[in-house]
Amino acid sequence: MPGRPLHKIQCESFTRGSKFTKQCKCKGYYQKTSKKYRCKFHGGASTGPKSIEGRIKAIRNLEKFKNKSDTELYEWIKSKKYAKDLS
Ligand SMILES: [Zn+2]
Repeated sequence: MPGRPLHKIQCESFTRGSKFTKQCKCKGYYQKTSKKYRCKFHGGASTGPKSIEGRIKAIRNLEKFKNKSDTELYEWIKSKKYAKDLS
């Protein structure tokens, strides 16, 4: 969430208490994934690294994969269920 807009940008979501008729009054931040403004309550969890390079970089920090080569890590990622939505 870098920077600060000149005017307050509201969260574009609706509150549950109003049965989704009233807009949330919190400050909204632009979300790259959904292309919408969402506050800290309506933003949801992080989706994690998307690209294959990002996945490898993240996995490298784990003890288990410390001394593995890039190709070995690539094979391990490809063997996982979520590998389908990667390139
Ligand atoms: Zn909100």
